[in-house]
Amino acid sequence: MTGVSGVREASTDFGHIVGSSPLGVVTARSAADVQELVSFAGPHGLPVSARGAGQALYGQGQAHGGYVVDMAALADVRCVPGERTLTAGAGALWRDVVRAALAEGLTPPVLPDHLGGSVGGLLSTGGFGGSSHRYGLVADWVRELEVVTGTGERLVCAPDRRPDLFHAVLAGLGQCALIVRATLALVPAPSHVRRYRLYHDAPGTYLTDQRRLAGDSRFSHVAGQARPALGGGWRYMIEAVVPHEGGPPADDALSTGDLDHDRDTEEIADVSFAEYTHRLDRDERLLRATGEWDRPHPWLTLLLPEEAAGSFVPAVLADGAQQGLRYCGTVQLRPLTGRTLHAPLLRRPAGEHLCLLALMRTAPPTAPDVVRRMVAANRALYERARTAGGVLHPVGALPMAPGDWAAHFGPLWPELVRAKDEYDPHHVLTRGYGLWT
Ligand SMILES: Cc1cc2nc3c(=O)[nH]c(=O)nc-3n(C[C@H](O)[C@H](O)[C@H](O)COP(=O)(O)OP(=O)(O)OC[C@H]3O[C@@H](n4cnc5c(N)ncnc54)[C@H](O)[C@@H]3O)c2cc1C
Repeated sequence: MTGVSGVREASTDFGHIVGSSPLGVVTARSAADVQELVSFAGPHGLPVSARGAGQALYGQGQAHGGYVVDMAALADVRCVPGERTLTAGAGALWRDVVRAALAEGLTPPVLPDHLGGSVGGLLSTGGFGGSSHRYGLVADWVRELEVVTGTGERLVCAPDRRPDLFHAVLAGLGQCALIVRATLALVPAPSHVRRYRLYHDAPGTYLTDQRRLAGDSRFSHVAGQARPALGGGWRYMIEAVVPHEGGPPADDALSTGDLDHDRDTEEIADVSFAEYTHRLDRDERLLRATGEWDRPHPWLTLLLPEEAAGSFVPAVLADGAQQGLRYCGTVQLRPLTGRTLHAPLLRRPAGEHLCLLALMRTAPPTAPDVVRRMVAANRALYERARTAGGVLHPVGALPMAPGDWAAHFGPLWPELVRAKDEYDPHHVLTRGYGLWT
């Protein structure tokens, strides 16, 4: 179990950029505790934010002048193999979910890459993972939620039970209710996967291959990165896996024969599915050991129309303001398919072929000017992305004004305003996003 030790820890987050002063931290040991706090705070106009694993990057989970509800103790996970479902407390981490599901030979169809986030926190932003190109968001596989609304009501909602609340909560940035429990669908898990790492020298061939892979079912998971090339420039790596039951695919050419990568540098390995799901654990240990885990993280995640990504991504990587990415950070490039993304509040560009670009950088620990410049560069990039048809994935570090949010939600904004007025009329929940004045 994680959990915040007190006000000091709840005043910051993984981003280490925005700090605040809550009045207090309340440890929720039951849904009733959450209900009691929100029922008190609402009429007094006191902000309340849930805190799961504290992975927010820009104060989204902080509650200046109010209360942070630490969800870490709401961590029960119960798998019902016969129904192929799993019910988790909102404070459970994804690694707890994976452990319980794999013990029954099952898995959620989509898992985040990093398993250290909380169930409630990820569902409140949608949740992308390696199989999103085929199966959409983690949130698209939620069967039922138990929530506490801003009026202090404890309600159960599902696609056919209070659907308006259900759809306002998934990818809803904690605006209408706090999640206390979620029931997720499960599917059979493979025992092993064959993992391919395929390197491309140019973004054009990389994106063409990614698009080809996103459009068929040969790989269950497809992700990718831009990596600094020796001597300057960037290389692009697709990481894709084929599930199997211990007898690996006989012919790699069936998986990669029609792709345009550099065959001399391809890497192929068989790993257990459990090892694959935990693939970022080693990176986390390394970053903790070097201290980078605890430094400021001015990250930015954008969803781009694929046709714009071909010029946008190389321009970003060549931009002087982004040079730090060569030395301290990761650039993620993930293919997505528009028709698989269902949660209405997850905003996405028009079109079928999409690309998620995540700039995950680390800033020096004691250089606030550098951090300010990086956040300003995020804002400039966000504006450029918008003119190219791109959309923000709201887990990054950049200032957003209420007008930006209205534009972000576009035609859904009036419905979100209505749901907010109904379920959180005092506007106390999750103010850290800055949606309202
Ligand atoms: C190292 C790292 C790896 C990541 N990997 C991925 C990834 O693979 N895929 C992906 O999609 N995203 C990823 N993210 C983004 C991350 O999942 C989101 O920022 C998520 O919201 C974090 O939730 P948390 O509970 O872990 O963090 P917190 O900071 O505790 O919460 C984040 C936000 O969610 C709200 N929240 C938390 N719990 C609840 C709840 N029970 N009900 C309602 N609102 C709640 C908080 O108030 C806050 O606004 C990653 C982030 C980091 C830092």
